[in-house]
Amino acid sequence: MLKNYQGQARKLAQLLQQAGIVDTRVLQVMESTPRHSFMPESLTHKAYENTALPIGNGQTISQPFIVAKMTELLLAAERPMVNVLEIGTGSGYQTAILAQLVQKVYSVERISSLQYQAKRRMKLLDLHNIQMKHGDGWEGWQSKAPYDGILVTAAASRVPEALLSQLDPAGGRLIIPVGDSQQELKIIERYGDEYRQQTSGGVRFVPLVQGELA
Ligand code: SAH
Repeated sequence: MLKNYQGQARKLAQLLQQAGIVDTRVLQVMESTPRHSFMPESLTHKAYENTALPIGNGQTISQPFIVAKMTELLLAAERPMVNVLEIGTGSGYQTAILAQLVQKVYSVERISSLQYQAKRRMKLLDLHNIQMKHGDGWEGWQSKAPYDGILVTAAASRVPEALLSQLDPAGGRLIIPVGDSQQELKIIERYGDEYRQQTSGGVRFVPLVQGELA
């Protein structure tokens, strides 16, 4: 385990602030969460750099700036974020950040070995307001809906219908990267049957895979 990571984590939080993250709750949680615990030992020397890193199975732990940005966008909704669904648990890093800022996090991952490791990390960090499911994120998690917020950490070729229908009709908010090689971060809010959409710049994520679970 990396020793004395606090100094590095503090510097990362400062960098995120300089890069435009303004929500102090998000900055605080990014500073106090040990990102090095979410990756293979051999990469921990890079844990507090502002980059995505490989976590096995062809997947990555998202870039800290993107994690902070998506979390900030979610918390900026008009309604309080109580029930939040995450699609693409991966390392569990984004899950852990969310769990410290909202009441309850549900997270879906299609690769069981990643989900297993992420679960272990949540226990080690004493985070107990999280439920995880091995499943296909294109379907969301119907039995726990509606959600105040849904955050997707893999790029979808189009916005999954199931996720739209699982948003709370009174202003539930979905944050999702959409596109193939060129991706945009979309923010979609539901008001009854109406969906209001905004776009927040270009991003780069691994794909939200269609089909069988791994
Ligand atoms: N938030 C994660 C990002 C991991 S990368 C982190 O910071 O570590 C995206 C994750 O989405 C991968 O773990 C990948 O397996 C998962 N994923 C891709 N397609 C999926 C699908 N259809 N359903 C559920 N998870 C999916």
